[in-house]
Amino acid sequence: MRSQSSSAQSDLLTGGIVLAATILFVSTGGATVSSAIKALVGLGAGVEQVMTTALLLNVALILFGYRRYRDLKVEVKHRTAAEEKARELAGTDSLTGFYNRRKFEEEGAALIARMQIKGKAVALMMLDLDHFKTVNDIHGHAAGDAMLKAVAERITANVPPETISARLGGDEFACACAFESDAPDEMERVADALVNAIIEPVPHQNGELSVSTSLGVARSDRDGDTMDMLLRRADIAMYAAKNAGRNQHFWFSGPMEDELFRRNAVESGMRQGIAAGEFIPYYEQQVDLNTGNLLGFEMLARWESPVLGLVSPDDFIPIAEETGMIGSLSFAVMRRAFTDARDWDPSLTLSVNISPSQLRDPWLSQKLLKLLTETGFPPNRLEIEITETSLYDNLGLAQTIIASLKNQGIRVALDDFGTGYSSLAHLRALPFDRIKIDRSFVTSMMGNAESAAIVQAITRLGDSLGLPVTAEGIESKDIEQRLLSLGLAKGQGWHFGKPMTVEAARELLAANKMLAAEEEAAPLTDEPNVAKSAAPGR
Ligand code: C2E
Ligand code: MG
Ligand code: MG
Repeated sequence: MRSQSSSAQSDLLTGGIVLAATILFVSTGGATVSSAIKALVGLGAGVEQVMTTALLLNVALILFGYRRYRDLKVEVKHRTAAEEKARELAGTDSLTGFYNRRKFEEEGAALIARMQIKGKAVALMMLDLDHFKTVNDIHGHAAGDAMLKAVAERITANVPPETISARLGGDEFACACAFESDAPDEMERVADALVNAIIEPVPHQNGELSVSTSLGVARSDRDGDTMDMLLRRADIAMYAAKNAGRNQHFWFSGPMEDELFRRNAVESGMRQGIAAGEFIPYYEQQVDLNTGNLLGFEMLARWESPVLGLVSPDDFIPIAEETGMIGSLSFAVMRRAFTDARDWDPSLTLSVNISPSQLRDPWLSQKLLKLLTETGFPPNRLEIEITETSLYDNLGLAQTIIASLKNQGIRVALDDFGTGYSSLAHLRALPFDRIKIDRSFVTSMMGNAESAAIVQAITRLGDSLGLPVTAEGIESKDIEQRLLSLGLAKGQGWHFGKPMTVEAARELLAANKMLAAEEEAAPLTDEPNVAKSAAPGR
């Protein structure tokens, strides 16, 4: 503001000088011309000299004024260009030249309004590059920028000419294209073409960069006619495409949104539930297949949600892992389980599942040992179950954690064997005490020759490595017999009983004299075989 007013003042001054000079020029100029004529005929030389000087001064002043006027014109031109540039910068992304989010929302809303009048619809496509961060991390930011530019070029090359394209930030792009409501196939082809074009490698320096994209589409004639709504729903569809394996496109559908709401509700419910002690241990019997005796329990977490009822770990463990709640959840449940189980018969073991993300916590073994000390549960009765996926990320750290746990007498089992890489390298990388055959092979082994062959192969592998094998998912007597004939010694599954509450576990133990003396309140049975007495299926 200040510079504008001072420049206006100087413009006024210059204008004044030019005006005065012009008036002087006109008045002195007329006199000087007549004096010059007089001089030619030899009259009044002194007077003419003064008048000539005045004339020259006027000419100089006019030149000064003209110069200043020209400078001003240039300045105004520059200022207009700078303002134009600023306006452009506020509306476009400097790297790709695409609109930014604000401008995209403006232009998109205008497009929707125009198309509504014409009876057409607008498809809003939201694109997010898959694992783009890796390009930046491995090849540097210049490579990342080159990749983003290439993606923008490919978008432009594959969308209809009137499409509005934007870079919403980072590696997120969006396009708004008009289409005939009854011909969405056209947009289907565009979305397909975009996904296929973006996965093509981008030449960079001496090599190539590759990235794929997940794309979500929402349409103005069905999913909402405001940019806000369309952006949100295209985003939901885009995440669905990512979750389904990336490098593909999904159209928005109602159930996707329901799933998101459900997931958000589960997530916030879980946060409160952990603090409120709603996560509790259930216990599944592990049995000696030869004698039928109870050897111990696998602790399986359950969520007693006041809103959702009893929730299975398959529903909440992945969310707990993603949101970083797994540590607090797991420790809260283990604390209860160690307290529950410390008075049970000392021969009984307790198995707990440890998630892959927990094995990335360098303090895991210290935290676990602290919990054992606090609850008074003996480490030599504890077995932890880990899956192969835990070993992909940071094998070195997993080895250190496991070594420290084993030093304290804790045993380690490889869970769900047969479902991952089932690699010998993984089996040898850690000093496992046991392999657990995944339940999917065991439950299906009677009707599926392939499953039966896998169970047999894993049993032999365990034999040759000197590792005991547990079969999980034993649902029937037939399966139990078959496993026994393969030489398997330990098993668990619904045939012996479904996972039970601590109260049910205590009843079972009390009935079989496997609780500390003062706690044996339940009536005794004379049957020596604990698991048999507990198994409803037998
Ligand atoms: P898992 O460790 O493989 O546990 C065995 C699963 O098989 C349990 O499912 C159990 O209820 C189920 N099961 C047992 N017997 C049978 C049977 O005869 N037939 C069939 N079809 N299924 C049977 P659940 O309790 O739903 O647990 C699922 C998974 O969730 C577990 O698989 C484990 O990976 C995970 N999980 C459970 N609790 C925890 C926990 O506290 N922490 C972590 N990190 N993961 C847990
Ligand atoms: Mg397990
Ligand atoms: Mg398992």
